Amino acid sequence: MLILMGHQATRDQVDNVLRHVREHGFEPIELPGADRLAIGVLGSNPAQIRDAVIALPGVVDAVPVSKPYKQVGREWHPEPTVVRVGEVRIGTGAPFAVAAGPCAVESRDQLLATARAVRSSGAHLLRGGAYKPRTSPYSFRGLGAVALEHLAEARAETGLPVVTEVLTPLDVEQVAEVADVLQVGARNAQNFSLLEAVGDVGKPVLLKRGLSSTVEEWLLSAEYVVSRGNPQVILCERGIRTFETATRNTLDLSAVPLVHSLSHLPVLVDPSHATGQRHLVPAMALAAAAAGADGLLVEVHPRPDEALSDGPQSLTLEQFSELMEGLRHLIGALARA
Ligand code: PEP
Ligand code: MN
Repeated sequence: MLILMGHQATRDQVDNVLRHVREHGFEPIELPGADRLAIGVLGSNPAQIRDAVIALPGVVDAVPVSKPYKQVGREWHPEPTVVRVGEVRIGTGAPFAVAAGPCAVESRDQLLATARAVRSSGAHLLRGGAYKPRTSPYSFRGLGAVALEHLAEARAETGLPVVTEVLTPLDVEQVAEVADVLQVGARNAQNFSLLEAVGDVGKPVLLKRGLSSTVEEWLLSAEYVVSRGNPQVILCERGIRTFETATRNTLDLSAVPLVHSLSHLPVLVDPSHATGQRHLVPAMALAAAAAGADGLLVEVHPRPDEALSDGPQSLTLEQFSELMEGLRHLIGALARA
């Protein structure tokens, strides 16, 4: 529920409303707007206090928020959120942002070679997994702490902020020491204790869409992070599981404008996991930009055939450079430099 205060409402009247809401077991959040203050009310079934709230001095109206997600929705927060990662801004009105790098950090040389190349091709952020969620327990599951050291070194050399995945609440503190953006992967998109744990850290979170998450479930996952007081969430569409097996997943590009209409949060697209095949990645990357995505997450490897994970979908350094060239033309045409 949103409580709308009158233009003339005094501080005492606002404080009185906040007190009233708290006394009934709900959490009020002040939402200063361009011309008037609103107070968001969080909790289960706040409509039960609506009549009493409307009668309080200074209150003009109290309207329900129709969606199950609250703070990530446009009803609650109409203005787009732009997430800042160092000098990089991600969101509506900001330049198109590209995060690129290997699926997994495999060695210092592999990471540094990739980081230097994607940087000179124009990437804005470096991605690379230190802890990898793998379907089989016998697959390569990442170098862990050593990979975090390599990521820190690559950032120091290239200046690119680092995006890396965290798998469990226990690892959040360690990963957050290096990560500029904490990635929550598709397999963990509904790991609610992990979402709360990353919400407790004051760092941006990149939240992948779950393997079979509806848009509403995905936004409710984002709500878990934001509800802990961390509004810096970047959503990432990475394809969903459908009956189609010719591609690794089915890229739901319509989710980009849909989520932009439902939520103020930025949306990236990951054409690598969405397709699973490197020859499909450039077309889907360009399509994502045309659909209004705020940026991309792309897997790149110096020798994809030797990659320890996701080689078939990883672009070579040269292919990534060509993609960035194509993107520059498209983005120029879209007037989103
Ligand atoms: C990844 O980014 O390497 C990854 C594991 O992605 P997802 O969680 O989307 O499968
Ligand atoms: Mn991967």
